[in-house]
Amino acid sequence: MNAFSRRGACPALSAPMQTGDGLLVRLNPVAGGISPKLLIGLGESALRHGNGIMEVTARGSLQIRGLTAESARLLAAEVDVLGIAVRSGVPVETGPLAGIDPEEIADPRPLAERVRMAIEEAGLTPRLGPKVSVVVDGGGQLTMDALTADVRLSAVRTGEGVRWCVSVAGDAHGATPLATVDADAARDIAVATLRMVAEKGREAHTRDLSARQLASLAGWHSFAPLSVLPDISPSRGEVIPPARLSPIFSLARGEPTRELPISPLEGEMSGRTERGAQERQPTKSPIGHFDLGERHALGIGLPFGSVPAQPLIELARQGSHLGATEIRLAPGRALLFLGLSSSACDTLRDTAASLGFVTSPTDPRTRIAACPGAPACASGRIATRAIAEEIATESADLLDPSLTLHVSGCAKGCAHPGPSALTLVGDENGAGLVVDGTAKALPAGYRPGYDAARGVAGIAAAVRRERHQGETAAACLARLGAAGIAELYRRN
Ligand code: SF4
Repeated sequence: MNAFSRRGACPALSAPMQTGDGLLVRLNPVAGGISPKLLIGLGESALRHGNGIMEVTARGSLQIRGLTAESARLLAAEVDVLGIAVRSGVPVETGPLAGIDPEEIADPRPLAERVRMAIEEAGLTPRLGPKVSVVVDGGGQLTMDALTADVRLSAVRTGEGVRWCVSVAGDAHGATPLATVDADAARDIAVATLRMVAEKGREAHTRDLSARQLASLAGWHSFAPLSVLPDISPSRGEVIPPARLSPIFSLARGEPTRELPISPLEGEMSGRTERGAQERQPTKSPIGHFDLGERHALGIGLPFGSVPAQPLIELARQGSHLGATEIRLAPGRALLFLGLSSSACDTLRDTAASLGFVTSPTDPRTRIAACPGAPACASGRIATRAIAEEIATESADLLDPSLTLHVSGCAKGCAHPGPSALTLVGDENGAGLVVDGTAKALPAGYRPGYDAARGVAGIAAAVRRERHQGETAAACLARLGAAGIAELYRRN
């Protein structure tokens, strides 16, 4: 196994990953975004050196597919010539409107930079696994709530100004809150947390930390001087939270509490978290029009997260022509064009729609996860994108927000590792249907791959017939049961 073939690794520019359609590189510009001209240059490089497929991932990284070892080197050299500095090290991610959104609670970029520097100074990058990540979320119109991370620092308003809620191991709804503190303390706790993870080995994540370790992280900063930070470790630095005050604020009143009403860990265990007090809006789709004061931003989605490079080049050209100054990559498989007038947003949206991009957050394609599949990926047993397009057209009403459908070329399930209500997966028997499971599960029924969308249309027709008023598609499917759904899929 060479450096190009280690699965699960982050395929940065210098270490591409082997996939079914050749090598894949993933890159994140240091500046968060790039100019339209640079995106055009990257698209042309992808056409020259890869198979011309470009992707934006669910976490907002740009991927170029279909490279060879030699062409990956040439691509890396061209990225250098274009002057695009790409991030390496532990990902410390900020939102796509960071620093330019008048609605954000705080610009997260300075704190993110300090966390990055502290991680480097502590020498943690080589000791942490490639999927360990930190999110620094300033709030606003596009939060990072849906992204899971090992450490989350989320801005909150308090009577004493902006503070950062530190939580670990999850998305905004599932992460375990530790403390709400100022920026210095948030950075220190973040680095102390990652140090504990590093002590457990390169496969470890914050979910592997013990309750005792989390308790020490939640409480230590209220009395530990900064100088002891490098010594905190599972074996040497575990401390019991002090009896005196913790730096957790009563956000409802906007004042520091005189006593901690419930420990953050107990709060999580009993289902209560600090989240209710965080003044955060629900996660919003990055697709659509965003008012940024004097200028506007337009979010455009890539259907199923990928497009051929040529339409992307054309879209960037039109964006540049209309005055876009920067294009940022957004979690949720989207691109944000910044610096536009309101009328330019409308014109660019029309262009994007005509080129096949997703221009509405309610587009049924946003409810489907589909990997490149056959023929783009050599491991693919079904034409995932064609099946997904057909389902989005024929069975759109099945795809309400309660339901995610996954179309996977094989059991690896690259596009959506977690369970979905319905998963179509290709194998030697055709297109299998998994109900409420992952692509790795045993399918409950099969159809020929070319005919898979018709099986889903059968399920959609049954949901249309059987659905009670106000019932979601997911709830209706649960009533129909896995065996009934598999039978509908097989016989339509
Ligand atoms: S899940 Fe899709 S992209 Fe991943 S290896 Fe299988 S066919 Fe290829």
